[in-house]
Amino acid sequence: MSTLFNAPREVVFCKKCVMSNQRPASIPEFRHKPNREGAKYLKINKDGICDACKHGDRKNEINWVKREKELIKLLDKYRKNDGSYDCLVPGSGGKDSAFQAHVLKYKYGMNPLTCTWPPILYTDYGYDNFKNWVEIGGFDNIVFRQNGKVMKTLTKLSIENLLHPFQTFILGQKNIAPKIAAKFDIDLVFYGENEAEYGNPIADNSSSLRDKSYHTMDNFDKMYLAGLPVKELIDNYKLTKSDLMTILPLPYEEFSKTNIQINYLGYYLRWIPQEAYYYAVENTGFKARPFRTQGTYSKYNSIDDKIDDLHYYTTYIKFGIGRATYDSSQEIRNRHITREEGCALVKRFDGEFPDKYFEEIMNYIDLDPSKFNDLCEKFRSPHIWKKENGKWKLRHTVNRTGTDD
Ligand SMILES: [Zn+2]
Repeated sequence: MSTLFNAPREVVFCKKCVMSNQRPASIPEFRHKPNREGAKYLKINKDGICDACKHGDRKNEINWVKREKELIKLLDKYRKNDGSYDCLVPGSGGKDSAFQAHVLKYKYGMNPLTCTWPPILYTDYGYDNFKNWVEIGGFDNIVFRQNGKVMKTLTKLSIENLLHPFQTFILGQKNIAPKIAAKFDIDLVFYGENEAEYGNPIADNSSSLRDKSYHTMDNFDKMYLAGLPVKELIDNYKLTKSDLMTILPLPYEEFSKTNIQINYLGYYLRWIPQEAYYYAVENTGFKARPFRTQGTYSKYNSIDDKIDDLHYYTTYIKFGIGRATYDSSQEIRNRHITREEGCALVKRFDGEFPDKYFEEIMNYIDLDPSKFNDLCEKFRSPHIWKKENGKWKLRHTVNRTGTDD
């Protein structure tokens, strides 16, 4: 049976969480081609346990007191008392960035600048959370307001070519911080969690530093955006090099002239999403979404962009993994729910169509909704989906209810 996107042919579920080996590891989006050339997927080990769960177990063995001491040593090295900023925290004012910026400033006495790559389509409560982060939390913040025309074009193309509505946001969010740090002469940048928490290769998590391949580029001409070579975007879509540079990373040459260190705060401090949520409610006025997020059961994860809900619907189409699978796997690893509960949540919510903002998104990118459905047909991999009586069904589910289970 053929597979799309270089995904593993056989679908295997982790015995501990509810994630499958079809979960793609994140690759730098500026190298993301339609066939996901070079892609890696979540490794399920011989004992049936995935790398993300193994990492979760390791977290329990880490000496966090020692790690915090390492953090303080690092902060002492970079701390400035001359009125300038000594670290940069990129974020949206969601629970994680709220937590990070707040502890750095008020617990560890740093002088952070915060910066924000805004969502493609803000939700009202997402915008309130951003405002409260800055106003109640008390931070200087730089918002990079993007060229809206370029964002629209690239968002539409990334849906058409990759069924990936969130690509422009991911790119901007990952690349903006090193650029702002370079401009403001800030040498220390903190991201939150390492991607390995969720299933990137486990070795990535053995260091506090983020790999440079994520935020530098060596050759502009070899970059891809929306699944197309940049040259094609310039030649065929009236985009200029400067339009594209906005969301591309710093050239390697420029980055290597700086002393910028990109760190994961999650390496030093124990990182539990639910606790970051309570912390943000308490300290920066964070509020959960007033209703359940479609496709899952949660209310406080990634709620500031209307396009995020559609993004997880597309992961369900492409990899058979919906938002409830992502959310409950993480909660199983943090021991908030059992695997059995996770299975029930997946059964109930995974793949629910996010109709709340759907029309608005289609209007925004000027795409006929029926065209979106046609694209979904095209991006269903035959090894994941089977059509029975005119209806698409998963071949394998964590509940063993697939057509081939
Ligand atoms: Zn697992």
